[in-house]
Amino acid sequence: MLIRQQAFSGTQHRFLKGGLHCHTTRSDGQLSPEETIRLHAQNGYDFLALTDHRFYNFKNYAPETGVLIVPGMEIDVNLTTRAGMCFHTVAIGPEEGKNGYSQDERVSNARLAGAAEYQPFIDSLRAHNNLAIYCHPDWSRTPARSFEDLQGCFAMEIWNSGCAIEDDMDTDNGLIWDELLVQNKRINCVAVDDGHRPYHHCKGWVMVNAEKKLDSILEALEQGRYYSSCGPEIYDFYVEDGVAYCRCSPCARLRFIYGLRPTPLKRDSEGGLITQASMSVKGYSYVRLMCEDAQGRRAWSNPIYLD
Ligand SMILES: [Zn+2]
Ligand SMILES: [Zn+2]
Repeated sequence: MLIRQQAFSGTQHRFLKGGLHCHTTRSDGQLSPEETIRLHAQNGYDFLALTDHRFYNFKNYAPETGVLIVPGMEIDVNLTTRAGMCFHTVAIGPEEGKNGYSQDERVSNARLAGAAEYQPFIDSLRAHNNLAIYCHPDWSRTPARSFEDLQGCFAMEIWNSGCAIEDDMDTDNGLIWDELLVQNKRINCVAVDDGHRPYHHCKGWVMVNAEKKLDSILEALEQGRYYSSCGPEIYDFYVEDGVAYCRCSPCARLRFIYGLRPTPLKRDSEGGLITQASMSVKGYSYVRLMCEDAQGRRAWSNPIYLD
């Protein structure tokens, strides 16, 4: 039997490059919305969400670029316990009218004791017909046990450029992700910039198998029809008869990851670059793929579930 990760199956559109988390002068970002969109256009982005803090946006401030704006914002609360510092969640949603928020709508933050008190905040995003992304768990100082019972996030950040550059955090949250996946808490990952300063932008993105229409992009994200990257491209990822296979742009190291067990890197024994690999994954409930290029930039697939 062949199971292909959804990003690489079905109608093959051109992959769309997208940014799901960034800030502008609408909150504490340093570039204006116009500058932020133009910078992403110059870097080949097809879509972008301007997710300023607790301040919803639908507006395309630079429509001449052709970048599609995904409506969104970021919400946050601080924690009063030693269980972690804060919870941040990016909300992205459909066009005005289908979306429970309105342009420039503000939401309030709060001080909470823990995840149980945060659940209503995520429930509210979902009730407003938005998708939710669990943000920067490393920077928030929330290991899996601090948020693993939160319901309603379709993805968590595996890479966050701002946290990576400023704090050496959220550079690969694979262990936290695996802690959720081994409990059969099915969630995807996203690479994002969380760009506040100009040099944060355009370093982590998603590549989505969708049409360049808002509803198609949101549906593909929710269904996991995409992969995340800071550089490498993934062309195919599937499991056939208990063996995982992948094809990608030239990479120095690949790794198939399943469960809380070590798996060896796939690499060229003479130090060259590789563009494909395979590994037996018999007996495991899921497998995911990490690719790393010669510059150390990574890409991550979403999981293939095997049971
Ligand atoms: Zn945040
Ligand atoms: Zn942010």
